Amino acid sequence: MATATIIDCHVHPTAAKGGSPTDCADRLLPYADRMGVELMGLSLGPIFVQQPTPEQVEADNDYNAELIERWPDRFFGYTNLNPNYLRHSLAELDRRVAGGPFMGIKLWVAICCDHPNLDPICERAAELDAPILQHTFFRTGGNMPTESSPAHLATLAARHPDVTFIAAHAGLNWERGIRAVAPQPNILVDTCGFDPEMGYTEMAVAWLGSERVVYGSDAAGRSFASQLAKVHGADISDADKRKILGANMRRVLSL
Ligand SMILES: [Zn+2]
Repeated sequence: MATATIIDCHVHPTAAKGGSPTDCADRLLPYADRMGVELMGLSLGPIFVQQPTPEQVEADNDYNAELIERWPDRFFGYTNLNPNYLRHSLAELDRRVAGGPFMGIKLWVAICCDHPNLDPICERAAELDAPILQHTFFRTGGNMPTESSPAHLATLAARHPDVTFIAAHAGLNWERGIRAVAPQPNILVDTCGFDPEMGYTEMAVAWLGSERVVYGSDAAGRSFASQLAKVHGADISDADKRKILGANMRRVLSL
C-alpha cells in the first residue's frame, strides 16, 4: 500500500533513559524515520510514576514541551495530569493546552476514570477541543485498584459526549475492550501496547468502524514496527488502513 503520512498517537519519551529531550529525540527519530512515522504524540514523561505529585507532573510536561517546541513537525503532546490534584490539573490544563503547546490530555492509573474529579477536567477539555488518551486495561486477574477499564471509560464518555476519548491499548484484552466501548461513539481505540496478534484490527473495524481506530505504538516500550504490523497485516481495505495510520488522528487533532 502507498505510504501516506503516519501519525503515532501514543509514545513515551523514555528512550533516552534519563537523558535530555535532545537525547530522547536522537534515539526516537531515526527509528520513526525508518518506519515512516511522521508525527508522534508524547504522553506522561521520563518520571513515569503511577501517582505523580504536582511537581512531577510539571517536570514531565516541561520535558515534553521542550521536545514539541524544538521539533514541532515531529511531536505533539498530551498534558500529563494527576486528577487527584484537581485544582492543579485544571491549572495545568490551562497552562499547557489553552496556553500551548499541548493538544490533549493523557490519564494513566492515578485515579479510575469514572471518578467525579474527571468531570470538570472533561468539561474544560470539551471547551478546548482537547482529546483524552486514557489508559485502559482489562487485566487478567483484575486491575489495580485505581486502574481504568474500557467499561469505566464508556461510563465517563457517556457523561461527556462532546469529548473525544482514545481507549489506549483497547483494554489489552481487546475482545472485551472493543465490546465495552462500542456503544460510545466518542471513544476510539488505539493499537498499542500489546502483542501483534492477528484479528485485533479486523475486529475493531468491524465493531467500531474504521473511523474509530488509530495507530499507536507505545514506543519506547514497544517498537513502531510490531504495532504497525497490526495495521499493515490486517485484512481490511487500503482506505481503512490510511484512516487508521493517519487520517483519523488528523481529524481528532483538527490538523
Ligand atoms: Zn503508553
